Amino acid sequence: MSSRNHRLAAAVILAGALGAGLAPAHAAGKLCRLRISANDLMQYDKQELSAGPGCSMIEVTLTNTGKLPAAAMGHDWVLVRTEDLAGVANDGLAAGLANNYQKPGDPRIIAATKIIGGGESTSVTFPASRLEPGGSYMYLCTFPGHYVLMKGVFHFR
Ligand code: ZN
Repeated sequence: MSSRNHRLAAAVILAGALGAGLAPAHAAGKLCRLRISANDLMQYDKQELSAGPGCSMIEVTLTNTGKLPAAAMGHDWVLVRTEDLAGVANDGLAAGLANNYQKPGDPRIIAATKIIGGGESTSVTFPASRLEPGGSYMYLCTFPGHYVLMKGVFHFR
C-alpha cells in the first residue's frame, strides 16, 4: 500500500514536471538572442549565425565597433533567402541612406536592422515562423558595396 502510493505520487510529480516544462514554451515562447558586430574594415565578426526551431522569437543585436559615421561606413543586418541576396542588395542601392539602403516594403527582406554608424548598436526581433527549418538563408549589409564582403549564412534547423 505504501509502495503503491509512492508510485502514484511519483507519477503525479513527473506529469507536473512535464507540464511545467511544456507550458512556458507554448504560452510565452522562447526568445533566442544572437549578437554580431561590424567594423570599419567592412567586416562582420561572424560568418554564420544559428537559431533552432525551438526559438519562437529571434532577436539579433548588431554593434558597429568602428569609428566612422553611418554615411561613410554604416552597417545594417538584413536577413534574406539565399537566392534573394544580390537582388535585395542591388535594390537597396537606390533606396538611399534615408531608407537604410533597403527598398521600402521589400517582401524579400525577412528581418532587418537600421543602418548604424561607429559606436552604435541596434537590434531587430522577429518571429521564427518567418523561417522554414532547413531553408537556405543568408544575412548581409546593404550599405553600397558592402555585401560582397559583409554576408554570412543563417542556419535555422
Ligand atoms: Zn556594411
